[in-house]
Amino acid sequence: MQFDVLTLFPEMFSSLNESIIGRAKKNKQININLVNVRDFSENKHNKVDDTPYGGGAGMVMMPDVVYRAYESLNNKDNAKVIYMSPQGKTLNQKKVVELSKENHLIILCGHYEGIDQRVLDKIVDEEISIGDYVLTGGELPAMVLIDSVSRYVEGVLSKDSIKEESFSKGLLEYPQYTRPEVFEGMKVPEILLSGNHQKIDEWRKEQSLEITKKKRPDLLLNE
Ligand code: SAM
Repeated sequence: MQFDVLTLFPEMFSSLNESIIGRAKKNKQININLVNVRDFSENKHNKVDDTPYGGGAGMVMMPDVVYRAYESLNNKDNAKVIYMSPQGKTLNQKKVVELSKENHLIILCGHYEGIDQRVLDKIVDEEISIGDYVLTGGELPAMVLIDSVSRYVEGVLSKDSIKEESFSKGLLEYPQYTRPEVFEGMKVPEILLSGNHQKIDEWRKEQSLEITKKKRPDLLLNE
């Protein structure tokens, strides 16, 4: 899967070189192309933002600079353009799975007060938020999107890991345990040591339901 990211701070994305996403990049299951929007400024001071028309605090990213950065991308005709924005629909697992079926995502990261509306109207297909709070820029939200979507790209994780986890069946996941068998006087539930896989599955389903009732009863209402 191809991700093109339009950002003023490409260095922030170095954390995606680690762990599972780093491995997916190395294995060429995903490709992340970072485009520095500042490279497309035609101003001698490399200016990318200006004061808002109508007054008010902060700076707004200029439409022509963002548009030139977008125009520089290859093969964008079938790509979906996503603007990370607190005004977008909140990201959830259903949307993550849906986006993982795309071949090419172009992710636009705003900064400062955001981006001139005209270029958003021209190029953006969808706005996505990562929650009802405001961050300084779209880089962290873009990383959240890339990480969550990449997990569903063929081969990045085993099919079992994504089948069983929280939200995959509308419920939270059951509790997990590993060695040692006794920790600070607390024993691993006996059933998990029994080797009886049918009973273990039943226990996990019950636990899933109980935990969801306790921690996120709203998920059960959405069933
Ligand atoms: N003035 C904008 C508003 O009130 O809607 C907020 C701009 S915010 C300070 C700067 C940039 O951070 C946005 O353009 C967006 O790309 C990103 N951003 C901030 N919060 C976000 C969130 N919750 N989800 C996704 N992107 C976010």
